[in-house]
Amino acid sequence: MREWIVAGNWKMHNTIQESVALARAIKEGTSSLKKGEIILAPPFTSLSNVGEAIKGSKVSLAAQNMFYEDKGAFTGEIAPGMLKDIGCTYVIIGHSERRKYFHEQDKDVNLKVKKALSVGLKPIMCVGETDEEREKGITRSIVDRQINLGLSGVDKIDNVVIAYEPVWAIGTGKVATSAQAQEVHKFIRGILKDLYGSAANDIRILYGGSVTKDNIGELIAMEDIDGALVGGASLKPDGFLGIIQNIAEKK
Ligand code: PEP
Repeated sequence: MREWIVAGNWKMHNTIQESVALARAIKEGTSSLKKGEIILAPPFTSLSNVGEAIKGSKVSLAAQNMFYEDKGAFTGEIAPGMLKDIGCTYVIIGHSERRKYFHEQDKDVNLKVKKALSVGLKPIMCVGETDEEREKGITRSIVDRQINLGLSGVDKIDNVVIAYEPVWAIGTGKVATSAQAQEVHKFIRGILKDLYGSAANDIRILYGGSVTKDNIGELIAMEDIDGALVGGASLKPDGFLGIIQNIAEKK
């Protein structure tokens, strides 16, 4: 049985004070949950304070990115050990905004995934096609490439989470239909089965892209959708807790 996950990606939002208030509200709102994992990914500047705020709860801390070296002259970068040190359990890797604005390639994603695993961080590896790629009918080959290259040399998959985030659905309000999402999730599980055999049955594959409390119900009913990576709707307690509640009722 795969335990569902709801992860909130706060992107470049929230001061420390705002972050702590939001984290406290999420902690409170999830205190009676019996199942599931809740993950918060605040900006780097709020990691420490959010970590403090969620102590003793079932909420875990994630970073939105990291570099793949342990230390050195890499101005502006954050090392994986630093994220462990500050209390992160997870790290988002290869988000489409990193790929688009910061030119991250599959090979960078792969180095980061391997490095995260080597220090005991669990990577949430993001994949997904653009609008143009979907129109051209090459969604499967794009996702296949991203998964195969991103996981190249990764022998053990247990601590990896995959997030399928169609780029055209991120921050656009254009959510994938449950059928569209399930089709790609199933395809991803097939790739993972080819690579890792039955271990693939335990891997959580999250959907991300304009998820709200109103549309999560249909998505989460799908067999291969194991939770959500949420951007915009994770910035307000009501929206985020509404998503969690809907998933908790259905999974
Ligand atoms: C994201 O940033 O991962 C995301 C899915 O954003 P949104 O929910 O705002 O589409």
